[in-house]
Amino acid sequence: MIEQKAELVRAARRLDEIGGFTATDGNLSTRISSNSFWISPAGVEKGEIVEDDFVQIDENGRKLSGRGEPSTEWAVHLAIYREREDIYAILHTHTPHLTAFAAARKIPDTALLAEAELAIGGICLVPYALPGSAALAEQIIFCGGNPGVYLLENHGAIAVGKTAEEALHRMERAEFLAKVTLLAEKIGGGIPLSKAQLQQFQQQGR
Ligand SMILES: [Zn+2]
Repeated sequence: MIEQKAELVRAARRLDEIGGFTATDGNLSTRISSNSFWISPAGVEKGEIVEDDFVQIDENGRKLSGRGEPSTEWAVHLAIYREREDIYAILHTHTPHLTAFAAARKIPDTALLAEAELAIGGICLVPYALPGSAALAEQIIFCGGNPGVYLLENHGAIAVGKTAEEALHRMERAEFLAKVTLLAEKIGGGIPLSKAQLQQFQQQGR
């Protein structure tokens, strides 16, 4: 459990470096058991977060331990943990390029970069709902499947993973993909790899 929090702190530092957390935006969590998880507190700059800042809450959002108040987005984290038994870490950021796609209500095409296609595990565009609301949690569940990244319209992105490291790499790759897609637009637009080319990359065991 201690290591799980350390992993989250490391992810927060990395994501802060790529502009994921304007002011006190964003939140991070890791599942402890079937009915409780650690989540970042409300009102803290995530680039400065330390392990002791995390708040443990149960499946009803009740605080079990920790000194601050849980993130206002706790219901969204809970909804994902309930729906996705494979997920143990959730990172929510407002990285600029992914958020640009979220504002335009468009998904960057993972087929533009083989690493993105393989590592992200799909991106789902989530219809706009008030941040922190139960309605937003419901919209995320409507996505179905097992996407690695949820893009929240007019808001930001959520990356999920079996570990904080997996979620971090998915977020970093998705942000990089969004940036490259926008840059490629300036020179005529990216050209997606074919299914055969993507399969070939996957078979290489990368
Ligand atoms: Zn947000």
